[in-house]
Amino acid sequence: MSKAKVIVAICPQCEGNIEVPSDAIPGEIVSCPDCGTTFEVDAIDGNKVFLKSIETQGEDWGE
Ligand SMILES: [Zn+2]
Repeated sequence: MSKAKVIVAICPQCEGNIEVPSDAIPGEIVSCPDCGTTFEVDAIDGNKVFLKSIETQGEDWGE
């Protein structure tokens, strides 16, 4: 068994640490333990994680 590494991403909202498993895949949902904001993993590059914010409320896109 190999042990999964964890990459720490900085929360764009509160600058808290969000731990993302290094084997996470783009599209995976992670949430900040500090402020509770939910993000989607956009890409993982080496030991950097790019997060994308998810709009869960607000604009109604119609249809
Ligand atoms: Zn946060």
